[in-house]
Amino acid sequence: MRKPLVAGNWKMNGTQAQALSLAQAVRDGLGSLPQQVDVALFPPYVHLPAVLGCSGMEVVVGAQDVDEHDAGAYTGAVSAAMLEDLGCAMVIVGHSERRSLYGDDDARVAAKFEAVQKCRMQPVLCVGETLQEREAGATEAVVVRQLMAVVNRMGLEAVARAVIAYEPVWAIGTGRTATPAQAQEVHGLLRGVLGEAGEAVRILYGGSVKPDNAAQLFSQVDIDGGLIGGASLDAASFLTICEAAATQ
Ligand code: PEP
Repeated sequence: MRKPLVAGNWKMNGTQAQALSLAQAVRDGLGSLPQQVDVALFPPYVHLPAVLGCSGMEVVVGAQDVDEHDAGAYTGAVSAAMLEDLGCAMVIVGHSERRSLYGDDDARVAAKFEAVQKCRMQPVLCVGETLQEREAGATEAVVVRQLMAVVNRMGLEAVARAVIAYEPVWAIGTGRTATPAQAQEVHGLLRGVLGEAGEAVRILYGGSVKPDNAAQLFSQVDIDGGLIGGASLDAASFLTICEAAATQ
């Protein structure tokens, strides 16, 4: 039985005061929810100390990205060891915005994955196809290629200790969501690729998840929660989505 996870990716939004007040609102709201859901928040790097320092937080706090190198002359970069030292427990790798805007290819994503696990944090590995790829019938080939790049470097067991997020690029921030059946098809495929090791892996769906579509998506057998962008910036919406996952 996999416990659902709902993760909020705040992206590059908000002041420190806003980050703290959003974290506090989530913390307070979670108190009245059933406990059958894990919750994680991914603030911008600079707001991590504020959110990590928010008292009484029972949510996991993680980073939205990481550099693959250990240390050295990488101006502007943040290492996994630095994130671990701050108290982060998870790190997103391979988000489509990093892949498309910052050139993170499969090899680099796999190297980031390794850096995160080496520092005893849990990677959240994002995979997903573009609209063009879906329309060309290449969804399966693309997501399997992205997953296998990490499996080939790290091995099945290591990937089985991570969280995977299926995020069709055409659904991110567009208001266009995969149907539950479309999402389930890809989730089932990804779990199948991992074989027996995949049984325990949480596979999240991400892409315009909102309070009004979360329950249907989360009711699918291989969807173990969500990676939430836009709706995670509003505490009430995010909490409703957490509740949808907790009451499946
Ligand atoms: C995301 O950025 O991971 C995401 C899923 O965004 P949104 O929910 O806004 O589509």
